[in-house]
Amino acid sequence: MTMADDNRTINVNGETATFGIIGNPVHHSLSPEMHNAAFHALGLNNIYVPLPTTNLRDGIAGIRALGFRGASVTIPYKEDILPLVDHVDPVAARIGAVNTLVIKQQADGRSPAISGYNTDWIGANRALAEKLELKGSRVLIIGAGGAARAIGFGLKEAGAEVMVTNRTVAKGERLAGRLDCRFYRLEELGRLKADALINATSVGMTPKPENTPVPKEFLHNFAAVMDIVYAPVATRLLREAAASGCRVVDGLAMLLYQGAAQFELWTGRPAPIGVMRDILAKRLKTIQ
Ligand code: NAP
Repeated sequence: MTMADDNRTINVNGETATFGIIGNPVHHSLSPEMHNAAFHALGLNNIYVPLPTTNLRDGIAGIRALGFRGASVTIPYKEDILPLVDHVDPVAARIGAVNTLVIKQQADGRSPAISGYNTDWIGANRALAEKLELKGSRVLIIGAGGAARAIGFGLKEAGAEVMVTNRTVAKGERLAGRLDCRFYRLEELGRLKADALINATSVGMTPKPENTPVPKEFLHNFAAVMDIVYAPVATRLLREAAASGCRVVDGLAMLLYQGAAQFELWTGRPAPIGVMRDILAKRLKTIQ
């Protein structure tokens, strides 16, 4: 079978290796287009498909039995997946969330082995490292949800000093406790200084792009500002940070690099970053 889209052609035959995204819902995901373009660019006989999943245990049994080689895991299953895999990468275990499965077929006919990884922290570190030396930097994270947790543990892996602030104090204090770092209330934001500020909340995301998590008069306290919101890419926070002279990192970069890390885990090959970035930029342009 041949599928043509935007002058790209994907050939599917009896030897095609299958990958997919497990979640509910998955119809909005940009990962199928990004990974299929990357596979195609490297001439790999792989295909990546959406796998809307209402029962995670059955879904995992399915991909195990059907010879899948890997999968992405998204909302709401990044935590529930941990007890269902055979091996969890140590950083993913510390974060308590897995977004990538690598499935190794066994030569002796035994059930395939599934390993779980987290590439969200790798994507965030790589994106911020383009603008800042992470080791020894002080980084303030706004947010205490799943993304903030992955980013916090990732920054600690890289030797950064982390601070946390969050709207819901109890949740923020809990994350700070897990990260063994200081928690500040949002009202204290104006007196905090750091090498970088990361917005790991959904504030500023479409359909409310007029919102920002940080008043612009505080932004000069940060050398770099990263926003993980990617819809729109040019958030109000990033526009105001750039106007304040901060180095800025957008959410597309984290999305791109977490996908690149998945691609590299699955194929053992360097990801075609330019191809993947072009796909994301093209798709996200419509909601900027
Ligand atoms: P989550 O677990 O639901 O956490 C949401 C966080 O946002 C919480 O800290 C929450 O604070 C905070 N928040 C939400 N609305 C707020 C408001 N009006 N004012 C202040 N704080 C608010 O979500 P998540 O999975 O961490 O994702 C967060 C955002 O990151 C989403 O927009 C998601 O699309 C984006 N994301 C981007 C990437 C990427 O690759 N670029 C990857 C993952 C996620 P409370 O604790 O007070 O509720």
